[in-house]
Amino acid sequence: MRPLQELVRPNVWNLQPYSSARDEYKGMEASVFLDANENPYNAPFNRYPDPLQEELKRVLAPIKRVSPEQIFLGNGSDEAIDLVFRVFCRPGVDNVVAIAPTYGMYKVCADVNDVDYRPVLLDDAFQLQADRLLAATDERTKAVFLCSPNNPTGNSLRRDEILRVLRGFDGIVVIDEAYADFSCEQPFREELASWPNLIVLNTFSKAWGCAALRLGMAFASEEIIALFNKVKYPYNVNTLTQRQALELLKKPYTMDKWVADLKTERFNVMRSFADLPFCERVFPTDANFFLARVKGADAVYDYLVRLGIIVRNRSRVELCGDCLRITIGTPQENCKLLGALRQFRN
Ligand SMILES: *Cc1c(COP(=O)(O)O)cnc(C)c1O
Repeated sequence: MRPLQELVRPNVWNLQPYSSARDEYKGMEASVFLDANENPYNAPFNRYPDPLQEELKRVLAPIKRVSPEQIFLGNGSDEAIDLVFRVFCRPGVDNVVAIAPTYGMYKVCADVNDVDYRPVLLDDAFQLQADRLLAATDERTKAVFLCSPNNPTGNSLRRDEILRVLRGFDGIVVIDEAYADFSCEQPFREELASWPNLIVLNTFSKAWGCAALRLGMAFASEEIIALFNKVKYPYNVNTLTQRQALELLKKPYTMDKWVADLKTERFNVMRSFADLPFCERVFPTDANFFLARVKGADAVYDYLVRLGIIVRNRSRVELCGDCLRITIGTPQENCKLLGALRQFRN
């Protein structure tokens, strides 16, 4: 890895971060808070939230098998993705390299930050080819974006190819593991100690069932997390979200049960989908959705919309011609989908 100081934008490296009233006072014994111009009425909403979400990180750390100092929490993973650009990439100068097809936010954040985005196509099994990815990097490449299990394809990227990227690239490697809870692969989050240039993303939006909370996680070295904390908005995760996440983490078995049920259901839905006369291919998946190639994806999609059933039409995405991406719902919802599809006539 290049020295961190060479990777970070000079203005960020030299940044004197905003210091909030809550940052400056860290003692436990105080009971009168007249330091932040808050209203003394309307508890608990009157108080600013903990800017570093320390209690939540303390509870989360053993669950995720990292230290609290290796955790960044943000307003969705999308905040962490944006911070990769704002911390490392000089607008109009630096670039990032990413697999394609993949999650759309990497490119949107690159465009917003005026950073050149270089997509490298996966092979026709939706697999990463490390050599081709590395060949697209140059001395101005600050970060590489991988997503495993990948969205919209659903498959996990091959571990040996990911390792070749980690070994072969001297900048930041982001691995988005938003769907890792649905997969049996060992998460790279547990290997932070081996890779100082690694940033792993997780989210409360999928397996934890909390997309409405807007709570995303990034795991990385203490040094990288400190940079994220310096650049983020001071109170980026609100009190309601922090509290609700703590409640949820008290019952991790709920999440395990949801995931187990969704995986069973995924198996059943994929098998039934493959039997549809217009289905050409159901692709293997490690996520809570699957990608399927059908004859006439637009017609199937429009038919479902007319019935009030919404799936994701990915047919205009490279390598995904005539493909629909289907999220696994409740058994009732999946039944409605399959029932409707069995009635479909071209
Ligand atoms: C859904 C998803 C996310 C989650 O984003 P949030 O902002 O945390 O809701 C992140 N990455 C990928 C690849 C996703 O599909």
